[in-house]
Amino acid sequence: MHQLDQVLSAVAGYYPNADLPLIRRAYQFAAAAHDGQTRKSGDPYVTHPLAVAQVIAELRLDVASICAGLLHDCVEDTSATVEQLGELFGKEVAFLVDGVTKLGKLPYSTREEQQAENFRKMLLAMARDIRVILVKLCDRLDNMRSLNHLPPEKQERIAAETMQIYAPLANRLGIQWVKVELEDLAFKYLYPGEYEQLAADVAKTRAERLEYIRTVEGLIMKEMTDNGVPCEVMGRAKHLWSLYQKMKRTQRPFEEIHDAIGFRVITDSQMHCYQGLGVAHQTWTPIPGRFKDYIALPKPNLYQSLHTAVIGPRGERIEVQIRTRDMNLVAEHGIAAHWKYKEGKPVAVDDDKKFAWLRQLMESQKELRDPTEFLESVKIDLFGDEVFVFTPGGDVKPLPKGSCPIDFAYAVHSSIGDHCSGARVNGMIVPLRYQLRNGDTIEIITSPNQKPNKDWLKLVKTARARTKIRWLLRQEQRDKAVQLGTDLIDKALRKHNTTLARAEKQLAAAARELKCMNVDELIIQLGYGKITTQQVLEKALPELAKKGEEPEKKTESMLKTLLRKVTRRTSSSGIKVAGEEDILVRFAKCCSPLPGDPIVGFITRGRGVTVHRRDCDKGLDLDPDRRIDVEWDGNGKTQHEVAIQVMCSDKPGLLAHISQSFTDQGVNISQAHCRATDDGRAVNTFHASVRDLDQLKSVIRSLSRIKGVFSVDRVSADVA
Ligand code: MN
Repeated sequence: MHQLDQVLSAVAGYYPNADLPLIRRAYQFAAAAHDGQTRKSGDPYVTHPLAVAQVIAELRLDVASICAGLLHDCVEDTSATVEQLGELFGKEVAFLVDGVTKLGKLPYSTREEQQAENFRKMLLAMARDIRVILVKLCDRLDNMRSLNHLPPEKQERIAAETMQIYAPLANRLGIQWVKVELEDLAFKYLYPGEYEQLAADVAKTRAERLEYIRTVEGLIMKEMTDNGVPCEVMGRAKHLWSLYQKMKRTQRPFEEIHDAIGFRVITDSQMHCYQGLGVAHQTWTPIPGRFKDYIALPKPNLYQSLHTAVIGPRGERIEVQIRTRDMNLVAEHGIAAHWKYKEGKPVAVDDDKKFAWLRQLMESQKELRDPTEFLESVKIDLFGDEVFVFTPGGDVKPLPKGSCPIDFAYAVHSSIGDHCSGARVNGMIVPLRYQLRNGDTIEIITSPNQKPNKDWLKLVKTARARTKIRWLLRQEQRDKAVQLGTDLIDKALRKHNTTLARAEKQLAAAARELKCMNVDELIIQLGYGKITTQQVLEKALPELAKKGEEPEKKTESMLKTLLRKVTRRTSSSGIKVAGEEDILVRFAKCCSPLPGDPIVGFITRGRGVTVHRRDCDKGLDLDPDRRIDVEWDGNGKTQHEVAIQVMCSDKPGLLAHISQSFTDQGVNISQAHCRATDDGRAVNTFHASVRDLDQLKSVIRSLSRIKGVFSVDRVSADVA
């Protein structure tokens, strides 16, 4: 009970009205829950959460954090649940424990710096409340302190993770003493030989160093007070890890590292800080370029201080930091120093106010010179518009919030995106519209036949995926245009007893005249319907120009006859023929065009104009001379009959489901043909009336979602 009393009195010390009985109950709950469990050291397990709570108390955090520290391993390692903790200790405590538990489950494997950075961001994004991170840091500190009881390979893994993730986090949150201790502990397990050597070297010169520190402290103190700056002066040696870094950086042995000691001057006001700086610079020669004013320009973690380096009394460099008592509190405890207590009560904080100062930080971040400084660290929902997910290999990918598996697939590799047919998230198959969540592990299922479609554009959030999909869709359209254009020109040329190959030169000339770069572009323009075969023929085969006029005239005169014959009808078809609205129009049964489909018209004697889809095979076979430009005029309120084929498993009830789906979309079925196949499947063809392409697409989408449906296709209405 002794250690618990220490925690309680520490909390009571900085927070007189603290709910100490709650802390006591949390301890008792943890002790009961972990009863019978021991640590690797042989101690009862509860000594660990208790030690964690003690570190949390050193950071002067609130009661909820202390309780969370005591209970942090209960959900993971005992039968206790988050709900239970919520009932017993309140929602806040339960939320914090839940957060710490989730962070503990994130798989981390040692990676390069960029990955470590992403992982740190992921931790912060998942924590949502900075206290979750602080409790996690305290947990890690106690784990590092007792690391010697673990087997060597575990020691190395945990030490590497501490060095890459947790020490930088402590640093960015401004909790210096935690950072320093984590680094030295990790150093010890990562480079045992170097650590022992350096620790021995430092110990050997300890007495000498202490004497030196005391001398310089006295000198600084005297100069400061003589000049009217009241202060305390503290000298301290660099910690082992930072000494080791310095030795490596400068390629010098320990004996030659002379600025291993820094001095801190704590005074009472900002004015005295600047005055003290003047004193230091007057007494010893300042080293150019080493002065930094973090009082006027605080660091993003709120750190404030004056930094300078001078040539000390023995001709060696010494570092001097000058700051007020308040600034020192922030420097020591970082973010933790902001849980302030007024009149014994925590300041009432709703989330908005709690993070108001964090938001201010974001503003000041913009002025920072070093953008890699992990500025985001403090603002816990700074990553509100980002989501961090794992690849199966354990890499972390940052993506915009709302991203789907397709975005992830393209972030991994564009060929994976292009062939993405499905995804497994944390081992479960999910639809492609699934929205990624922090900490998800995503595995993309690819298929060589899969390719991007237009619907993907509605799902993706990243510019990268969008660009790649658009590019491929355009490419596909282009391929179709090339095919159509080739067919059109080929047929036209054959009529005049020549071929594409033979007319190459003439076509090249025609291309130039029609302002196309080359024949390929000419064919594409033809396929897109930007130019007509007639135009090409006139330019390519001018000797046929006279004859060529004939079909043109023929078309024109046919159209005129048509116009005369057709009594005025309202524009019920929703089609404009060559710019005219009231033409008798019929939709080809073979391809059943819908408003939204690219279309082409053919003049049919006596039956007006037949409209085909531009990619309809039958349409391509028709006489190009009868071809006429048609377009949707957007006013059509007509229903159009289409045929939809649904392949599904032959299960009772499924048909009812399917027809319900039509009804839900406001679509009537006029005919249905259903037959079962030998392999237990059913092929159903539905004739239904829809308004336009969009409505058809939404019907197809909703049919595809039905469980047991394998495929949904728009088919030719001739198919019955
Ligand atoms: Mn723990």
